[in-house]
Amino acid sequence: MKEEKIRLHDKTFKPYIRHERILDAVDGIAREINADFHGCDDIPVILCVLNGSIPFTGELLQRIDFPCQLVSIKLSSYQGTKSTGTVLNVMGLTSSVRGRRVIICEDIVDTGNTIVALKEMLLDKEGASEVRICTLLLKPEVYDKPDKLDYVGMEIPNAFIVGFGLDYDELGRNIRDIYVIDE
Ligand code: 5GP
Repeated sequence: MKEEKIRLHDKTFKPYIRHERILDAVDGIAREINADFHGCDDIPVILCVLNGSIPFTGELLQRIDFPCQLVSIKLSSYQGTKSTGTVLNVMGLTSSVRGRRVIICEDIVDTGNTIVALKEMLLDKEGASEVRICTLLLKPEVYDKPDKLDYVGMEIPNAFIVGFGLDYDELGRNIRDIYVIDE
């Protein structure tokens, strides 16, 4: 891992989680999901929450060993480095999930506003038969919802991070490692 700090827009970030460690977390999640869905006779939906979860979902998908369908959705609750608290449904689902079991793949859960609103929408409005939440990263100090997070790759402190899909105003998504803001 490069030890250098990086600069995105007006902020500096320092190395935090290396790519290999991220992939170890994806391995762990995939093992749990495969164990839970082994031998299923439905075709569960792997739901990629765009854009941040693209690298995570891509890695996870390659490790899933039961027949599944990839569907995407675009939501937004973040501008800059602070959650706005409102979850906007920016783009609809790329395919119907009615009657299907859905595994939401999220890059990071912070307050949980996004994931909980999405879960409710999928169950109440989109007619999913079951919704499980899978997130690569969780900030447990901030998460304040009663909803169970079914699969969690790694817990991290409450700090703003970028890389591996996560952006700061659209920059940084292409970086392999994860970097944390250098206050
Ligand atoms: P929540 O609704 O749980 O408060 O926020 C979830 C969304 O906010 C994530 O999908 C992600 O887009 C964004 N987010 C939360 N924490 C971070 C962070 O540390 N860095 C970046 N880049 N985005 C974050």
